[in-house]
Amino acid sequence: MSSPFSWSTNYRHPTAWDQDFPPLSLPDMLAASATRNGSAPALDFMGRHFSYAEIASGAARVARGLQERGIGKGSRVGLFLPNVPHYVAAYYGALAAGATVVNFSPLYTVAELEAQVEDSGTEMLFTISAAALLPAALAVLDGSSLKQLVVGSVAGGLPAAKSVLYRLFRRHELAALPDDPRVIRFSALTDNDGRADHVEIDPGHDVALIQYTGGTTGTPKGAKLTHQNLTANARQVNAIDPDHDAGDRILGVLPFFHVFANTCVLNRTILNGGMITMLPRFDAKQTLEAITRTKATALPGVPTMYQALLDHPDLPKTDFSSLRICISGGAPMPAELREKFVAATGASLVEGYGLTESSGVVATNPYDGPVKAGTIGQPIPATRIRLLDREDPSKDAPAGQEGELAVKGPQIMQGYWNRPEADGDSFTADGWLRTGDVATIDAEGYIRIVDRLKDMIAVGGFKVYPSVIEAHLHQHPAVKEAIVLGVPDAYRGESPKAFVTLEDGFNVAGEALALWLNARLGKHERVSAVEVREALPKTMIGKLDRKALRAEMKA
Ligand code: AMP
Repeated sequence: MSSPFSWSTNYRHPTAWDQDFPPLSLPDMLAASATRNGSAPALDFMGRHFSYAEIASGAARVARGLQERGIGKGSRVGLFLPNVPHYVAAYYGALAAGATVVNFSPLYTVAELEAQVEDSGTEMLFTISAAALLPAALAVLDGSSLKQLVVGSVAGGLPAAKSVLYRLFRRHELAALPDDPRVIRFSALTDNDGRADHVEIDPGHDVALIQYTGGTTGTPKGAKLTHQNLTANARQVNAIDPDHDAGDRILGVLPFFHVFANTCVLNRTILNGGMITMLPRFDAKQTLEAITRTKATALPGVPTMYQALLDHPDLPKTDFSSLRICISGGAPMPAELREKFVAATGASLVEGYGLTESSGVVATNPYDGPVKAGTIGQPIPATRIRLLDREDPSKDAPAGQEGELAVKGPQIMQGYWNRPEADGDSFTADGWLRTGDVATIDAEGYIRIVDRLKDMIAVGGFKVYPSVIEAHLHQHPAVKEAIVLGVPDAYRGESPKAFVTLEDGFNVAGEALALWLNARLGKHERVSAVEVREALPKTMIGKLDRKALRAEMKA
């Protein structure tokens, strides 16, 4: 491709290409690391350490337990878990058994959980006996094609973990386990010698992870990420972080079910032999405490997390001297927030960019070179990017102008699970992944995201799709038309706001509609307001004109 916008690779690593990342499966990656780092700690969970040997043996016992229950190549195993040690054993164990892992957000409602179980064909689901999770998992077991549920207990022997789980999930009891042969305790599943049958994995072909995303349209679909996609992405990020080593202590506060954490916290740390300090979910006070306690060296997070740390009264008494790098991604990092965080902590903070379909990371500012605030840096090694014409994606954008960012590299997904039509929309005819993000590239190859083609709202690092909220609004008898847009939000970056017109004869206030709507939505989807209007803008053929309303909002 001879476009002036084809940046073949990172300027500091101009020779890195796909062949620099030979095929590697995730189980082989863990096995090699466990051999090198045996007794070194891999996980810190509430002060309890799990060594590499323990993680490898836990994964092997999960693999054996799964194989004994008919799980193997071609099976899908779901993880409906917060950040707990079970996640790590279940993830690498399911992969070693030859299965494909499907990640589920622990914030899913029963309906969302069920829809994803059905779409992915998940046969077995891992969860924990927390009151916020187990009842939903049990409801799905009765109402879907799910065959078995594995339930871990986090509380056993770990009183600190118990109280943290209670507090973080705002629930005060752990749900009791029913007497049902389909419900297996994690301890029973792993009560074996760990001698799992060896499964041949083809890293470049076999799908390790089906990772759900709204993509560019908002319809939930699973990105198929191979073993090689994931291990390459971890190695690509290593290539631009010359200081990484086995002494790294990474804070695992990003949710593990998200691809950002999967690559930048879990797989990268296991590859390198460092230690992950897991918090079941992000909490500013505990994160600050863990930075001092574990002498953390790296903190991957989303902008709202850095804001919450900055706002916390414990910040001044936190010892940041060990922290060599903070990595922000998932949503734009406001320049002012970055400056304030760096000034308050003395840590270096670099912004990167990626998406589910790219196994996590596409580009980042250099860890050891000049950072350009407001940019997402340069493509990581072996990643090629290109800007496509906004109107006609079969062409390059005019020289020097913005265009839709398109990507090729070893980390790019195989396609979507069971959705060939979505593949057609997401890749160009010559195989470039279309990101739905509009960018410019400066003379030094730094990329700036300037707009978004896709109907997506970035609420903190969480992605919310207007179509989902609009569908809920249409269930209200008074709502005639609805458009949901992202509006600026001081804390969350963006938040959804709804604009509606009412059916004749109805008179409902926006506040009442917002209350009704938010009671039906997941935490991150909740709207900041519902505005009732006489009319909404329409296109020439009478369709609701989202673009015009967005332009009006911007003005
Ligand atoms: P997800 O697939 O949930 O990881 O969402 C990926 C999307 O998040 C990208 O396509 C972007 O729209 C957005 N995103 C991720 N990182 C950044 C960033 N640093 N700046 C702006 N947008 C970002």
